[in-house]
Amino acid sequence: MTGQYQFQEHPRSYYAATANEKVEYPALEGKITADICVVGGGFTGVATALELAERGYSVILTEANRIAWGATGRNGGQLIHGISGLHRVRKKHGEGIADMLWDLEWRGHDIVHERVARYAIDCDLKMDTSKLR
Ligand SMILES: Cc1cc2nc3c(=O)[nH]c(=O)nc-3n(C[C@H](O)[C@H](O)[C@H](O)COP(=O)(O)OP(=O)(O)OC[C@H]3O[C@@H](n4cnc5c(N)ncnc54)[C@H](O)[C@@H]3O)c2cc1C
Repeated sequence: MTGQYQFQEHPRSYYAATANEKVEYPALEGKITADICVVGGGFTGVATALELAERGYSVILTEANRIAWGATGRNGGQLIHGISGLHRVRKKHGEGIADMLWDLEWRGHDIVHERVARYAIDCDLKMDTSKLR
């Protein structure tokens, strides 16, 4: 980041206090080429970058502060199941769309469980929520 931007460390949070590994990447300098550049190292950016890398793309992930600096490093750490307003979607767009969204929510849980297992992430994952389905 250039110009007036002021880099910020993690704020005080459970994540910051308990993260297993503090990663410090160098500031981006010069020109770098990749298939895809993902901006923002929260859940969304990291998951997108990882998915694309797993599919064989070369990916650059840029983060203005630290990985998980934003909402991702400040949340309650719960695998929440729910999209607000699903009942309205059901009413307006029908069962098919609502069911697809419902399946999509659970697919997200599956992806988390799969990645924790695949990369042996030591993150205190407590429960297999697939049992609740
Ligand atoms: C207090 C709180 C509690 C929550 N609890 C839960 C929970 O228990 N369970 C749950 O599922 N969800 C919870 N959430 C929601 C969840 O944390 C968010 O939906 C999720 O983290 C959003 O991820 P994100 O990657 O989209 O955004 P963020 O995590 O905010 O990531 C965005 C990143 O982009 C970076 N960035 C921004 N602009 C630029 C730029 N120009 N260049 C480079 N980098 C940039 C920021 O520094 C930041 O790191 C909670 C949220 C909050 C705030």
